[in-house]
Amino acid sequence: MVKRVFNFNPGPATLPLEVLEEAAKATVEFNGLGMSILEISHRSKDFEKVLNDCVADVKELLGLPDGYSVCFMGGGASTQFAMVPMNFLPAGGSADYINTGEWSSKAIKEAKLFGTVNVTASSEDKKFSYLPDPKAVPVTPGAAYVHITSNNTIYGTEFFAFPDTGATPLVCDMSSDIMSWKFDASKFALIYAGAQKNIGPAGVTMVIVRQDFLAKANDKIPTMLKYKTQADNNSLYNTPPAGAIFIVGLVMKWMKKNGGLAAMEAKNKAKADLLYAAIDGGAPFYRGTVEQGARSRMNIPFRLPSEELEEKFIKEAKAADLVGLKGHRSVGGCRASIYNAFPIEGVQALADFMKEFAKKNG
Ligand SMILES: *Cc1c(COP(=O)(O)O)cnc(C)c1O
Repeated sequence: MVKRVFNFNPGPATLPLEVLEEAAKATVEFNGLGMSILEISHRSKDFEKVLNDCVADVKELLGLPDGYSVCFMGGGASTQFAMVPMNFLPAGGSADYINTGEWSSKAIKEAKLFGTVNVTASSEDKKFSYLPDPKAVPVTPGAAYVHITSNNTIYGTEFFAFPDTGATPLVCDMSSDIMSWKFDASKFALIYAGAQKNIGPAGVTMVIVRQDFLAKANDKIPTMLKYKTQADNNSLYNTPPAGAIFIVGLVMKWMKKNGGLAAMEAKNKAKADLLYAAIDGGAPFYRGTVEQGARSRMNIPFRLPSEELEEKFIKEAKAADLVGLKGHRSVGGCRASIYNAFPIEGVQALADFMKEFAKKNG
């Protein structure tokens, strides 16, 4: 038996043990080929099946209608911050951005290199501790698209409703909550997500793009940075991150086997409820930092009465095999990241630890 700690890291993050075990085997030998998944050609039949099965499973899990392409590429979600405006923000045009945290701010910074950015809603005035009402966000006439970040990994806020943008394409950075609940993917023209939070290892980014949106993309940009290149070539224009795609495929199969998005949602709700109850029940020693109604199920930040106590908490939690609870360096405090693959037993262990720690130090 391998020893596994409870890993609360925000990304790279916990993956299902059975996925890791299968990946470990395939890293030595795959499909009886006498080669590993890391060694076979990305143009081989065996890899093509891995890729096509993965795409089909993504479509099935999300209930995607016809007319969407699912692509896998390198560069992380951070490259998408630039690729989206490079492809879809025409010279002299504008795009709407909803600013709900550090990742949105970084996306805005890149978009400004290409055109005008209208920040149509922001929660920066209260340190991103709440969310603007998505239904009340205006859409700028003529905007090329509206960009939103569904889950704010650092601040711990999450949208469970999206703006109704009418005919204006809606683009979403779903890096930290993709496939964690059952949402209507057909509302989006483009979704991107770095895999390393909810759906796989670092090194691959999933992009889901509607083909009619693709048809409007700028053609005068580098070949590799065109979504159309990736979509037209089934992510095989060049050598894709094949090993990472393989693991994303295993995670998709694991999700299907475990009840799909509805089951993920129920499990994620139960885990988040348990942890928020531990925080609220432990007040005033513990303090949640996010307004009720905006709280994320994926990343749950909380504070203790002092930074000294926070440091002690993180250290003692680590000694108790509760690892990765330090808040993002930009905000401090504690943060528990509990994505799809994180087990409820780990959340219970943290809740128990919190109770004990408050008793001893409160
Ligand atoms: C982690 C994260 C990113 C950055 O992802 P990289 O793959 O490291 O570039 C972007 N957006 C959100 C919401 C994230 O959580």
